[in-house]
Order: sequence, then C-alpha cells, then structure tokens
Amino acid sequence: MSTSPVLVWFRRDLRLSDHPALNAAVKSGNPVIPVFIHDDQVETLGAAPKWRLGLGIDHLSETLEGLNSRLILRRGPALETLRTLVQETGAGAVFWTRLYDPAAVDRDTELKAALKQDGIDARSFGGHLMFEPWTVETKTGGFYKVYTPFWNMVKNRDVDAPLSAPAKIPAPDAWPSSEALSDWNMGAAMDRGAAVVAPYVRLGEAAAQTRLSTFIDKIVARYDTTRDQPAVDGTSGLSENLALGEISPHQCWHAGLRARQEGKPGAETFLKELVWREFAYHLMHHTPRILTDNWKEGWDSFPWNRDETTEAVMRWQQGRTGIQFVDAAMRELYVTGRMHNRGRMIVASYLTKHLLSDWKIGLKWFEGCLIDWDPASNAMGWQWSAGSGPDATPYFRVFNPVTQLDKFDKDRQYVKRWIAQGRRAPSETALSFYDAIPRAWGLSGDQEYPAPVVAADEGRKRALEAYENRGF
Ligand code: FAD
Repeated sequence: MSTSPVLVWFRRDLRLSDHPALNAAVKSGNPVIPVFIHDDQVETLGAAPKWRLGLGIDHLSETLEGLNSRLILRRGPALETLRTLVQETGAGAVFWTRLYDPAAVDRDTELKAALKQDGIDARSFGGHLMFEPWTVETKTGGFYKVYTPFWNMVKNRDVDAPLSAPAKIPAPDAWPSSEALSDWNMGAAMDRGAAVVAPYVRLGEAAAQTRLSTFIDKIVARYDTTRDQPAVDGTSGLSENLALGEISPHQCWHAGLRARQEGKPGAETFLKELVWREFAYHLMHHTPRILTDNWKEGWDSFPWNRDETTEAVMRWQQGRTGIQFVDAAMRELYVTGRMHNRGRMIVASYLTKHLLSDWKIGLKWFEGCLIDWDPASNAMGWQWSAGSGPDATPYFRVFNPVTQLDKFDKDRQYVKRWIAQGRRAPSETALSFYDAIPRAWGLSGDQEYPAPVVAADEGRKRALEAYENRGF
C-alpha cells in the first residue's frame, strides 16, 4: 500500500467534523498534511471577511496541533503551490471541499485537470452544501428560479448524517515548512480596527456546535416570532460559521430535524432558512452573473444612481441617514461585522428604493463589512431587495422603515442599542460605534441626530415614480 501523504487543502471548510475530504484522507491510512493557501482569491477578499478568515485559520491550526497535526500555510497561486508541496512531500493525492463561486470553480477545474495530468489523485468532495446545485432540477430539467418549489423539491430529501471528527490524523514523517499567519496581515484593511469587532466573533467549530445546541434547546421553538426582532437573541447566529465552514449545513439540518420531531414549532422555519442558503448557491451555480449583473436584464435600463461617492450614499454607509432603523442597522454592521436579517432587508430597501442607488453599491459595502460574508447569499439578498433578482420582492413593495420599526422594535431596544444621539445615557454599544469609525468620517456622539436624507414617504413616492416611468 502506498504511504505517500494526502494533502487536504482547506478553504472555506475550517472544521474537522463532518468533513468528507478530511475523512477520506484519514481513511486512506496514509499520512495527512492539512494545507491552507493564500492565493489571489484570499488576497481580494473584503476587509472584514478576510480578517475573520485569518482568525478561523489560526483557530483551525491550533485545533489540528491538539491532534498532533498541523496546518501548513503557503502563499502563492494555488496550482503552483500545490505542485511545490507535492514535490516536497511526495504526496500522491490532494483532496478538498468543493466551492461554487465562478472564480473558485474556474481555478479548481483547471487545477484538478493539471494535477491529474501529473499523476496525482486530485479529488473534490461535497460538504459546503446539502444539495449539490446540479442535482435539483425542475420537471423539465431546468433549474429553480423561485424558492417555494425549490423547497418543496428538497424538503424530504435524505441529507447525509454528519460524520464524526477523526480521532487521530496520521502525521507525515517530516512536515513541510509553513509560513507564519502573522506575515499575511489578514486584518490590514480593517479601518475600524479588529479590536472593536473581535468581541462579537463566534470563533471555530466547538463554539459553533455549542451555539447550535443552545439555539436548538432554548431558541428555535419561538424562532418564528423572534427571528424578526432585531433586538432579541432570536436566531441561530451561525451564518459566520457556515460561511467559513466551521459548522456544516448538514449538522444544522439534522439538529433542526430533531427539533421538529420534538414538536418545536419554529424548527420548520429554521430548516427553510437553511434551504434559502442552498437556493442562493443553486442560483449562483446556474446563473453566476447574479454576482455582478442585474439578474433580470430588464433592470439594466433602470435609472439607478451608480455613484458611490454621493452624500446620500455616504450617509447610508456611515449610519446617519436620519432614519433610525437604517442607522441602527448600519452601525450594528460596522461595530459587530453582522447585521440582523430584518435590518439587512431594511437598509437594502432604503438604499435601492428611497435613495435610488444601484444594489451593487450596497453589495460591495457589505462585502467589506460582514464577517459572515457569503458570495451567494449576499448577491441573492441584494437582488431580492432591489427587485432585480429571481423571486425578488417586487420593486413597488417599498419597506417603510418607520412602520417596520414600530412593528419589530416596538420599545426601541434596537435603536437604543445602536444610536447614541439624543440620549442622556447612551448605551455602551451605541458609543462603541464612535471608537470603531475612521477619524476621517468626522463624527462624534454629541453631534445632533440628522434630519432624514430622504424621508420615508417622500422616498417611497420617488421610487414608485421612477419605477412607473420605466414602464413596468
Ligand atoms: P438564522 O435566522 O439563524 O438562519 C439560519 C441560517 O440560514 C443562516 O445562518 C444562513 O446560513 C441561512 N439563511 C437565513 N436567512 C437567509 C437568507 N435570507 N438567505 C440565505 N441564507 C439564509 N447571509 C449570509 O450568510 N451572508 C451574507 O453575506 C448575507 N448577505 C445578505 C444581504 C442582504 C441584503 C440580505 C437581505 C440578506 C443577506 N444574508 C446573508 C441573509 C441573512 O440575512 C443572513 O443569513 C442571516 O441574517 C444570518 O443570521 P443567522 O445566522 O442568525 O440566521
């Protein structure tokens, strides 16, 4: 039997349990060399996702060391780096977990063919998704463009039971050298400083599993109601872990199924949300242009403002539109690297409808700020909000950020948490926004809360006029 090592190339799958590629490598009985490669696709990540990825790599590295293994870090183009590692270690195989964004697909397809040509057993595995996008088809063999039929098609499918983490990872006789993570400066672009966001991070596999258990035990039963209240700890909060693969969707799904069997009312809704994530990947796989272009091409002629340097856009980014729900959510984003889903819908609606700005401006801002940034969910969320996406909320459905606040933050807990202005004793969280922002923004907590950049009713009227003038 061959004893040449297997390289396991980690990317957005920073876990040891339910990791089919790692599992197969360990099962081969050969030494296993875990690797992370800092290539162009890592280099070009937004500030917060890149910083958060760095934390995840560090954590995985420590976990592997606890098992007498290591995470070898190398910087460079992926194929070249893997070839060098194959040469240095005598590895006969390279395994990894599949990704689905077009840049990763192009890289991985080319790289797999090249490694195979070199005589290497190059293999990709599932694990990031429950339903491979090409396995879900309509009756006529097409892909789904609407969520509900997609859900109906997958809801009763068997989802693989999660795999356990390997008890041992066989080490090679000699380890190849590794670069130092600190030399990669993964947090270099964090204008607001990592220290502000750090307390809000739920780092690593063990923490994600603990949170899943707490969520299932204590929260999911009331999830149907609590999931819409931004001031309440009423959702799983697992998106950052799912985005980096610190937990697998299968693990969440099976926990949700058990909760449903126990009769917890919100469990079904949780399962549905997990399927929204799958749907986003389904759409990205079949129509990768969802990341860059209006999914409905008819929207190309819509008179969206495409200038991201306008005063209105800047005020949106800086959480000073004068609309409380929008500002609270934008400040939450800047301080925590996360934003409640209701907030995401409100701020996206306000930017694209009240401010008539191109959704790509918002997409890009989120890509820089979110620690749970996910290419597919972010693009689907923005195009859904703008009206240009598949199964989108119609453009004429303009969220009213004032009545939404009355409905979902009746006692203004969320607003108090994030907006310091106008309060005699502002909350610490609201004040922390001012520690987070770049000096160049020139803001302080004692400035007056601004008048609306565009008032709720006026913005709605303007958006509807623009929409009607376009002849929809
Ligand atoms: P829960 O309510 O606990 O849901 C469980 C899981 O289901 C989530 O972790 C997530 O993986 C998935 N999920 C829930 N809602 C959605 C949804 N609408 N679309 C896709 N998956 C969903 N989600 C991201 O993970 N990354 C993003 O970059 C992202 N950008 C968004 C941008 C906009 C404009 C909008 C409207 C939504 C975006 N979402 C994004 C979706 C959603 O807001 C987050 O997934 C959710 O807020 C995460 O919180 P949670 O983990 O507590 O979710």
